[in-house]
Amino acid sequence: MRYLFICLAVFLSRVLLIAQAPEWLINNWHSGSYEQELRFLASDEMQGRNVGEPGLDISARYIAEMFRVNGLLPLPGMRDYFQEVPFEKITPGLAEVRFLDTVLLQGENVLMLDGVAKEDQGVAVFISFEDTLVADEIRGKYVITLFGTEEIRSPMAAMQKGREKQKEFERLGAKGLFEIYTLQTPWSILSNYLNRERLQLKQDDEADSSPIAYGLIQLDNRQVADLRKNPVRPIQFKYSGLQRKRIPSYNVLAYKPGTLPVDEQEYVVLSAHYDHIGVRDKAPDEPVDQDTIFNGARDNGMGVVALLASADVLKAVPMKRSVVFAAWTGEEKGLLGSDYFIKNSPIELNKIRFNLNTDGAGYSDTTVISILGFDRVGAAKQMEQACQAFGLKVVVDPAKEQNLFDRSDNVRFAQQGIPAPTFSPGFRSFDEEIRKYYHRETDNPDSINYRYANAYWKAFAYAAYLIAQMESNPRWSAGDKYEEAARALYGSHY
Ligand SMILES: [Zn+2]
Repeated sequence: MRYLFICLAVFLSRVLLIAQAPEWLINNWHSGSYEQELRFLASDEMQGRNVGEPGLDISARYIAEMFRVNGLLPLPGMRDYFQEVPFEKITPGLAEVRFLDTVLLQGENVLMLDGVAKEDQGVAVFISFEDTLVADEIRGKYVITLFGTEEIRSPMAAMQKGREKQKEFERLGAKGLFEIYTLQTPWSILSNYLNRERLQLKQDDEADSSPIAYGLIQLDNRQVADLRKNPVRPIQFKYSGLQRKRIPSYNVLAYKPGTLPVDEQEYVVLSAHYDHIGVRDKAPDEPVDQDTIFNGARDNGMGVVALLASADVLKAVPMKRSVVFAAWTGEEKGLLGSDYFIKNSPIELNKIRFNLNTDGAGYSDTTVISILGFDRVGAAKQMEQACQAFGLKVVVDPAKEQNLFDRSDNVRFAQQGIPAPTFSPGFRSFDEEIRKYYHRETDNPDSINYRYANAYWKAFAYAAYLIAQMESNPRWSAGDKYEEAARALYGSHY
């Protein structure tokens, strides 16, 4: 009986211990400030924090100053908290090509991909897949070919191949390259994407617009057959030129050194993207006071405040591993900020032992936190304990069909082998309540449940602490698709 009683007492104390929130966190928690931060970052004045617009840069400045007041340091080798991510804005320009018996117009049946402003009358030569290239037949002419190769039938791969062809024909002295579009993907899809202003990461090897014009054109079968028979034709070409404008944007990065000896430093990266999708155009029939601002309070204001609250509450707590705080730009443009970081990290990647990311579309269950990759990344116990301490349960990988694990910035780390889950505000499926706010003008700070938001932020901060303190480094579960990358990255230290 007495033995049973002791067992029960031990059991209960363990349960209580697990469920207990640490005093340092409770005593240094500033709910009012965190709510204020979210209301500021997701305010209308930030205009939806779009890349290339002032709202995003103001947010970056705010985040950096919060890092500074909390005593965080710039990453080793960096002068300040800003890592420039070089974007460029591409404007396709207007083109008119008179060829065979038609006038081809930009957007309709021409999509210019490169080239400078030009007005020219010249000669075009058709070259099929089988033809061997003869410089004398190409020099000074416009080359017309088929898009892709006999094997390459996907638009992305064909476009990449097109760049190679462009370089090759430039070397052979061609004036331009037009590829005839023959793939399955409807032309309208390509046109929608390529015939508008778009943002991309600036590639080092792609300095300015190429002097040789490069575009895709649409011809019908009769015209192509005609060309095969008689491959040398006159052409008239008028183009306003592809505009490239450099758009600076920044990852905001800082860290708190750990207590491990300097030469044994290991890092846990806490991260959240701080960009969102801006403002939409107003339709002509909409009322003047129609809300058109995508405030992004949930996506990802809540995540950014998880970082800021963690910085605040962890600043005085010694931790074994160094903790990096990373606010990414360009997530909404295709995970571009985190991608740039991984390719240009100031910290050796094999010193980064974990990435705890936070991102979300919204929440529909305030009793839980949804964790993408919960049971894969070797820190389930720590994450669960952190949630339980604030009365929250864990939902593992909800909306499996959406493959969310591979859709936020954590995947950039995972691909390198670094265990990297994403904390997401509570949901079990991509339900009505989530869709009500996901990338909608309704995602306002006024609609946030701040009691839940605070519990979420506390659980995130506590999980960060517990992971930074882990005895040994977290490992992927056996057989995970990223396990091999981890072995390659960490070698004998895995
Ligand atoms: Zn997001």
